[in-house]
Amino acid sequence: MGKNFVKDITSMDDDFAQWYTDVVTKAELIDYSSVRGSMIIRPYGYSLWENIKSELDDRIKKTGHENVYMPLFIPESLLQKEKDHIKGFAPEVAWITHGGEEELEERLCVRPTSEVLFGEHFKHIIHSYRDLPKLYNQWANVVRWEKTTRPFLRTLEFLWQEGHTCHETEVEAHEETIKMINVYAELCENTLAIPVVKGKKTDKEKFAGAKYTYTIESLMHDGKALQSGTSHHLGDGFANAFGIQFTNREGNLQYVQQTSWGFTTRIIGAMIMVHGDNRGLVIPPKAAPTQVMIVPIAQHKEGVLDFAYDLKEELAGSVRVDIDASDKKPGWKFNEYEMKGIPLRLEVGPKDIEKNQVVLVRRDTGEKIYVKLENLSTELEKLLDDIQTNLFNKAKDHLQENSREVLSYEQFKSDLEVHAGFIKAMWCGERACEDKIKEETGATSRCIPFEQQQLTTTCIYCSKPAKHMVYWAKAY
Ligand SMILES: [Zn+2]
Repeated sequence: MGKNFVKDITSMDDDFAQWYTDVVTKAELIDYSSVRGSMIIRPYGYSLWENIKSELDDRIKKTGHENVYMPLFIPESLLQKEKDHIKGFAPEVAWITHGGEEELEERLCVRPTSEVLFGEHFKHIIHSYRDLPKLYNQWANVVRWEKTTRPFLRTLEFLWQEGHTCHETEVEAHEETIKMINVYAELCENTLAIPVVKGKKTDKEKFAGAKYTYTIESLMHDGKALQSGTSHHLGDGFANAFGIQFTNREGNLQYVQQTSWGFTTRIIGAMIMVHGDNRGLVIPPKAAPTQVMIVPIAQHKEGVLDFAYDLKEELAGSVRVDIDASDKKPGWKFNEYEMKGIPLRLEVGPKDIEKNQVVLVRRDTGEKIYVKLENLSTELEKLLDDIQTNLFNKAKDHLQENSREVLSYEQFKSDLEVHAGFIKAMWCGERACEDKIKEETGATSRCIPFEQQQLTTTCIYCSKPAKHMVYWAKAY
């Protein structure tokens, strides 16, 4: 099984974008459809999403939220109510103008996000402080008419969850905003083995209509950043626009304080670009639809298939295991399941059965391990843990090695030419400097990280006193 075995995947060092396209299509995560910028999520891709969804849904419910479902369409007049919000989303909204043959009296937009629908509903159901907090979440699809699209990263339609909450006080809403960005970060790091930088978006980059936005940012293999989840403090802006008032504990009418937060199928793109290699996908065990793939060797020999099926049944209680007993050659199967990123391959043939052992092969390191049957369950558990940790540590090292501190704008520019990755640099807080840096370098402010450092006392662009250290990067 030499390196040349993988003929079909472009090397990521030659062309990262083509590598990504090859992986998402050849590993059967997606197919293209006739609708520009839309993708068909195939069973393997969808089962990945289902795992992520189930992990996140558990966390959302454990933190006290209830799932609800809002309509797909938003009347134009409703969308117009919050001015900043409509201004932010107008360029990418899809409109319904006809029902059958008839032109509609009022256009309907296909939801790009559901703040306004929740706003209208909250007005109906919230009257007293006793109705608060309202902690809602919706699993849905949304549509944003993007000009350039890439599978998972940016598509016209995508799947996500959007949390929407109402609180009595600004402080409570703030705590909720922080709580949910931490939930996203924990999910990324523990389940998906993706290390993240947590921080606040600048005003330029915050959500349209929000008071402020928290974000988690991750770093892809090619050194580009990816916004991986956001949590917004909406203040009382939407509450004012929609008239969401309640009688407070003193008997006075007051506007609610709101939050919203979202996590999308985009994270699958992140997982691919953080862990993948030239053989294809590498999926962290906790997210993997199949953790162990059994490949019988010389399966035509008597007893091999029975043995392999028994093994599958035995292991099914403790790991997500599957078997490929098709008549394809073992070499084809090895290649296929490596490309699909399955964490462990289990080979078993007549000689192994004789010796009471199986062969395990790690996807992340390629290491081959002979294991006696009596130790198999323990060994599998240990190896899956090891792989999960190894993937996280590798990604963490990559993030750290590619986060560079710069002290001047000259250094910022020259660094960016040589390396991709995060640049940490001081900023005065002025929009003008942020705009100029983006215009001149192509790097955007990713976040003002919670963990601040004082690298210099002045803004690298204008030399006025610095307010924050910012992570900058070219981003997806
Ligand atoms: Zn400045």
